[in-house]
Amino acid sequence: MISLNEFKKIKDSIPLGVSLLAVSKGHHSESIRKLFGYGQLDFGESRLQESIPKKNELNDLNKIRWHFVGKLQKNKVRGVIKEFDFIHSVDSLSLIERISRISKEEQKTPKILLQVKLREDPQKGGFLKQDLLKSWSQIISLKNIHLVGLMTIPPLSLNAVQRKDLFCECRDLANQLELRECSMGMSNDWEEAIEGGATWIRLGSLLFGKRQI
Ligand SMILES: *Cc1c(COP(=O)(O)O)cnc(C)c1O
Repeated sequence: MISLNEFKKIKDSIPLGVSLLAVSKGHHSESIRKLFGYGQLDFGESRLQESIPKKNELNDLNKIRWHFVGKLQKNKVRGVIKEFDFIHSVDSLSLIERISRISKEEQKTPKILLQVKLREDPQKGGFLKQDLLKSWSQIISLKNIHLVGLMTIPPLSLNAVQRKDLFCECRDLANQLELRECSMGMSNDWEEAIEGGATWIRLGSLLFGKRQI
């Protein structure tokens, strides 16, 4: 867990217009509470079951905002809609259609980022660019979702230059689609992501250290 001074140093190096998401998966609620005490309001989780007890332990922190960043299974959609303000990892047309339908039933309007896969990567899901463009009119007609941006994760095999190119491509695609947010950059590449036009960086280990859960 980083100190307040180290946290301030990171915050000071993040430009205006870029928001910090603290990815707390694998860490206990006390660590989240500590970072909240530093002034951090946005937290990311990647598993619904892990997040629920932690959220309950923190329900006195009424300014906290929760972001879902993990692979979202169909059968978890209702739970995620109920528990989270943002979903960064919407990776298919059928999934966003389901989110729209269930959001209506739950009378919610989650903020949605579409995960895009701009390079071949067997480890990762996401819309291929051509599929996203083809489905675009269907996607924007969906109710009860607030489409705010794109999210991407570079393949592990890329070097720094290749990652920067990928981040710029994600930014260009978001601009083309008139979406403000680009959620990209993690502990090892967040500075490149900011240069490439990120508006959300997602930091886990840099803030919390090694995972504990
Ligand atoms: C775990 C995770 C992060 C944070 O990763 P670090 O390398 O620990 O900063 C960011 N985004 C997603 C989608 C994650 O699953």
